[in-house]
Amino acid sequence: MFNAIMIEKDEAGQTVGLQSVEESALPDGDVLVDVDYSTINYKDALAITNSAPIVRSYPLVPGIDFAGTVSSSNHADYKAGDKVILNGWGVGEQYWGGLAQKAKVNGDFLVPLPSGFTTRQAMAIGTAGYTAMLCVLALEDHGVTPDKGEIVVTGASGGVGSVAIATLGKLGYKVVAVTGKPDESQYLLDLGAAEILDRATLSEPGRPLAKERWAGAVDTVGSHILANICASTKYNGVVTACGLAAGMDLPLTVMPFILRGVCLQGVESVVCPKERRVLAWNRLAADLDAEKLSSMVNEIGLSEVIDAAPKLMNGTLRGRYMVDVNR
Ligand code: NDP
Repeated sequence: MFNAIMIEKDEAGQTVGLQSVEESALPDGDVLVDVDYSTINYKDALAITNSAPIVRSYPLVPGIDFAGTVSSSNHADYKAGDKVILNGWGVGEQYWGGLAQKAKVNGDFLVPLPSGFTTRQAMAIGTAGYTAMLCVLALEDHGVTPDKGEIVVTGASGGVGSVAIATLGKLGYKVVAVTGKPDESQYLLDLGAAEILDRATLSEPGRPLAKERWAGAVDTVGSHILANICASTKYNGVVTACGLAAGMDLPLTVMPFILRGVCLQGVESVVCPKERRVLAWNRLAADLDAEKLSSMVNEIGLSEVIDAAPKLMNGTLRGRYMVDVNR
């Protein structure tokens, strides 16, 4: 038997609870993993609180990511004792996920834990931090180097935002953090932000074009904030868009693109090819300061997950929520 958060559905609707589950109930997969840590990402909070149609198959163990140790494997790339990370591929949406003590998965979904990293550090980063690194890689691919100017990061105190700030700061970029939590200014400055901008200054509908300021952006929120950032991005600047914490709409005009050559680069983490994933995880191991990572992590046990999910949804939490599934 092992402990798992389980989402079920009957005529009355969706229910969620902490359950003891028979190992024989695990779905098919060629690698069995003893999970050490999982996390609560925004998508997990949506699934647990039933706020969006994330769950595609019932019953389901949520948790879009985990890190742990292979206990048995029929996959050529893995053997018992290997340390592994999993994120995305529909795990925690269509397939049973990481908010459990055990997971049985398709070995093709796994990534080896980078050397020098612990499973705890990997999940302190989680899907949110890995997505932040995908945004950083996209900025680099488009030639946005630190000398090009300021990088704006929205949803700054959240999981993606916190890791983006710490990584970009370490790489020498001047980072401006956009937050709705003025009380977290010192936290964001300590992570590596050079300046704090009140989210309210970007939340209202703005002009098609505004004064040029940003060389690049990591946007985690969408809606008017993303539109206003595009409108104030410098000639040939690059805006990476990965999230929708403010809304899935994007009320902007073509003006930033046709008059300033602005590039709006979408960033997707779930089915991102394996080569890119391995690169992102290895770059996180190299470019994310371990001390800064610890400052953004809150650790909870599996039994606390259901209470934490609504708090993540209403944007009041700070940083990353890592889950020790064995307590
Ligand atoms: P968090 O909940 O940790 O952080 C989101 C942050 O957004 C909050 O901390 C808050 O930061 C800000 N925020 C919250 N509500 C609003 C609002 N109404 N308007 C403006 N800003 C708001 O989430 P994550 O960082 O884990 O994820 C961020 C986004 O990225 C989510 O939408 C998530 O779904 C998406 N995502 C996408 C992925 C992909 O593959 N494309 C992968 C991972 C995440 P502050 O108070 O500092 O402003």
